[in-house]
This record gives sequence, C-alpha cells and structure tokens, in this order.
Amino acid sequence: MEGTGPLLLLGGTFDPVHFGHLRPGEEVRQRVGAERVVLVPSGEPPHRTAPKTPAAHRLAMTRKAVSGHPTLGVLDWEAEASGPSYTVRTLEWLRERLGERPILIIIGSDAFTQLNHWHQWERMLELTHIAAVRRPGTSLEALDPELSGALEGRWTKDPAVLHERPAGSVMAFDVTRLDISATAIRTMVAAGESPRFLLPQQVEEYISAHGLYRQEP
Ligand code: ATP
Repeated sequence: MEGTGPLLLLGGTFDPVHFGHLRPGEEVRQRVGAERVVLVPSGEPPHRTAPKTPAAHRLAMTRKAVSGHPTLGVLDWEAEASGPSYTVRTLEWLRERLGERPILIIIGSDAFTQLNHWHQWERMLELTHIAAVRRPGTSLEALDPELSGALEGRWTKDPAVLHERPAGSVMAFDVTRLDISATAIRTMVAAGESPRFLLPQQVEEYISAHGLYRQEP
C-alpha cells in the first residue's frame, strides 16, 4: 500500500475480471493522476447473490489480469478473509494503515445507485472518495432521495480535491462505454462460445484451463 497520491481501488466479484473493469479503471487513474488501480476481489459479497466461483479462482484470474502491468495491483485481503466482504471493513482496515492519504474507490453506476443499501454506507463516505463511472444502460442521475441527500455538497468536478482531502467527495467520470458484463461472459462460455477480446487473454486461458463457467445457465 506504499505510494503517494490517492490510493485508487476498484472492488468487485471479478467473476471473471474483464475489460469493462480494466479500461474504465485506467481512464479514471489517468484523469486523477493516481499511480495504480488496485483491484479488490470480494470474498462473499453481502449485497448481491454470492458468486458460485470460489474466491481463490476469482483472485487468481485477477492476478493474471494485472500481471505485467505496473499501473495495476491486487489487494487480496477480502478474498482471503473469512466471512462476508463489506467494503466498509476493507476501508477501515486501509484507513488504519494509510493515515491521511486519500482513498478513492471506483464504483460503476449500477452499483453506485444502490450505494445506500451497502453496509454502513454513510461511514464509507468518511473513509473514501468515490469515483462514479457511467456504465452502459444505467444512469448516475437516478438516485433515490436518501442517497442524493447524503451526497449533497460532496460532488466535485476537480480531481485536485481528491488529492487534498483524505475522503468525502464524489466525482462522476464519463469513461469509454464498454457494454461488457461478467454475467454475459459466463453465459457465453457455458454456451461453448469464446469470450475472446472481452477480457485479457491470460484470464481467458485460465477459464478454459480450469473449466470454469461450463455449467452456468
Ligand atoms: P456480474 O455480471 O457478475 O454482475 P460485473 O460485470 O457487473 O459482474 P462486478 O465484478 O460485479 O462485474 O463489478 C465490479 C465493479 O465494476 C462494479 O462497480 C461495476 O459497476 C463495475 N463495472 C463492471 N462492469 C463494468 C463496465 N462494463 N463498465 C463500467 N463499470 C463496470
């Protein structure tokens, strides 16, 4: 967790990790001026259907995706931990180690609009900044009043704010829209189709070497 500037995180189930994660992450990284995007594969996600794929496979695929890319990293803390993965727990753990260094977490618009259903979501705003990225087919504007009220006064368009303070601001990012989802990739593989060019080649090779997703509906 060494480094300077905001620690940029991208959490997910990564079942599997794909270019719809990596490219938006890279674009946010460049615009913010962060050193790396650190991918955080979940253990058992509490706010959605638990992935069928064991955390060890999801972590291994994520490691393949970042290998050889100095601007990418992996934090294995959630995937290795027992019990449900609450983002707030990871942020508390990081905050203890980082002191006042800013943390910025990337969240896609589908997840961001549900933020007020996350465990201790208001506490999260004290621990991290949020980079909300637009995902095809979803909107960042359709927030329910509880969430939009909590975010009032936190929106910024200035990336410098994300360097100056440790946490508490929200910035929207328009990124290249890649209509890729892990669900669609799993369905494709189960149907015997190749997911080539939707995800890194090493991840594709891992999927076929381990026979992942062959049984998915
Ligand atoms: P699934 O289809 O299994 O739900 P997913 O493709 O949505 O998976 P996740 O691991 O759940 O992937 O996503 C992790 C994070 O990345 C979330 O914040 C999500 O909004 C974001 N994300 C996923 N796919 C994209 C995409 N194509 N464009 C932008 N953000 C994305």
